[in-house]
Amino acid sequence: MPEVVVIGGGVTGIQASLDLANHGITVHLIERQPSIGGHMSQLDKTFPTNDCSMCILSPKMVDVIRHPGIRVYSCSEVERVEGEEGDFSVTIRKNPRYIREDLCNGCGDCIQVCPVEVYNEFDAGVGTRKAIYKPNPQSIPDIVIKDPVHCVECGLCYDACLLDAVKKKEEPVLIEVHASSIIVATGYSVFDPGRKKQLRYLEYPDVITTLEFERLINASGPTGGQIRRLSDGKKPKSVVFVQCVGSRDMSIDRPWCSCVCCMASIKNAILLLEKSPETDVTICYMDIRSYGKGYEEFRERAEAAGVKFLRGIPGEVSGDRGAMSLIVENSETGEVKDLKPELIVLAVGIGPSLQADEISEKLGISREASGFFKSLHDAMDIVKTNRPGIYIAGTAVAPKDIPDCVAVAGAAAMHSFIGLMRD
Ligand SMILES: Cc1cc2nc3c(=O)[nH]c(=O)nc-3n(C[C@H](O)[C@H](O)[C@H](O)COP(=O)(O)OP(=O)(O)OC[C@H]3O[C@@H](n4cnc5c(N)ncnc54)[C@H](O)[C@@H]3O)c2cc1C
Repeated sequence: MPEVVVIGGGVTGIQASLDLANHGITVHLIERQPSIGGHMSQLDKTFPTNDCSMCILSPKMVDVIRHPGIRVYSCSEVERVEGEEGDFSVTIRKNPRYIREDLCNGCGDCIQVCPVEVYNEFDAGVGTRKAIYKPNPQSIPDIVIKDPVHCVECGLCYDACLLDAVKKKEEPVLIEVHASSIIVATGYSVFDPGRKKQLRYLEYPDVITTLEFERLINASGPTGGQIRRLSDGKKPKSVVFVQCVGSRDMSIDRPWCSCVCCMASIKNAILLLEKSPETDVTICYMDIRSYGKGYEEFRERAEAAGVKFLRGIPGEVSGDRGAMSLIVENSETGEVKDLKPELIVLAVGIGPSLQADEISEKLGISREASGFFKSLHDAMDIVKTNRPGIYIAGTAVAPKDIPDCVAVAGAAAMHSFIGLMRD
C-alpha cells in the first residue's frame, strides 16, 4: 500500500490528507500541536461567506481522525528524513502529552479539578486554560494534554481520572515510517506587532491584534462573543482597524502583501456592526485588496453597513492608555484626523511558520528570502520543490486565503498521487 507523509494539520494538511486517503493512499499526518486544525480553528467566521469557521472545518477534522487510511501523530515533529522520492524514511518525534492516548476519553473530569489557570495560546492570550486542558472544545484528537511547565503536581487530576490515563512522566518517542512522498503544509505565523514599538502593543491593553479580535468575537471564545476592552471590560464605542501591520513594510524587511488582512478586517468590522450597530468602526488602509471571488461585493457590503474606510496608515498610537489617539492623514483628501478609538485592532500580517528554517534544513528544501518555501516555478510548478518527491502547499508557500489553501492542497495531493502511480 503506497504511503505519504503530510507535515502540518491545518486546513491545507487536512485537505491533502483526505484527498489522498480517499484514493486508497495511507497518510501519516504529523502535527506539532496537541490538536489538528491550525489557524482556521481559531477564526470566528470566514470571509466572504461569513460561514462559521469551525462549522466547516470541524467535520473535516472528524473525517481525518475517523479515516482508516489516516494516522494522526499529534504533539509530533519530524526528527529526520532520509532516502529519496519513492522511498523516504521519516523519523517522527512524538513529544510527551503526559496522557495515555489509548485510555483518555476526553471526559474533562481532570480539567474540572485542576487548580492552575494560565495564559491560553489558543485564545491568542485573551483567555485562560488549566494546566491540564483541551486546546479547544473541538480538539481532534478529543483528549487532554498536561502542561508540565505549569502543573504543580497537586495530584488532583490523577485522582479524578477513573481510567488512570494521566501520567507523571513521559519521554519523547521516535517512530519511523516509510513514504513515497512528503507534503509540507506547515502554514504561517502572524507578525509580532511588538516589533513596532510605536504601536504600543502589550503596552496599552486596548491595542490588540486581528487574531485576538477573532477570539473575542467568537461565541465559544473567552468573552462568549462580546467585544470588551481588556483594560476595563467595557464595550468600546469606537474601534479602528489598522491595516498592513507587518506587511508591505520595508522598514522591517517584510515587503510582501499578506493577502488576507484586508478581507479579515472587513469581515470583523461587519460582524462587529451586526453585534453592536451603534459602534463607530473605521478601517485605516493603504489599498483595499479585495481580489477574490465575491470579495469586492463583501467590501461594498461593509460600506453599506456603515464601516468607514479611511485611506491612510497612522504612524503611531499616541495619547495615554486610557485615552488613545491615532493621528492619520487621509491621503485622498489631505485632511489630518485625530481618531480617538476606544479599541485599536492591528491587522497583523502573515509570515513563514516559526520552524520553517528547521524543516527546510531537515528536508533539504529551499526557501525564499522571505522565509516561505520556494516553489520549483512560481507560475507553473508551485507545489513542487527543488527535491523530487517533496511538495509544498498552503500558506507554507506564501500568504493565502482558505479557498486557495484548499485548492493548492488538492494540487499537492494530486502530484503526490501521480508520483505514486509511477513507482
Ligand atoms: C486574523 C486572520 C483572519 C483570517 N480570516 C480568514 C477568513 O475569514 N477567510 C479566509 O479564507 N482566510 C482567513 N485567514 C487566512 C487563513 O487563516 C489561512 O488561509 C489558513 O488558515 C491557512 O491554513 P494552513 O493549513 O496553510 O496553515 P496553518 O493554519 O498555519 O496550519 C499549519 C499547521 O502546521 C502545523 N505545523 C507548523 N510547523 C510544524 C512542524 N514543524 N511540524 C508539524 N506541524 C507543524 C501548525 O501547528 C498548524 O497546525 C485569516 C488569517 C488571519 C491571520
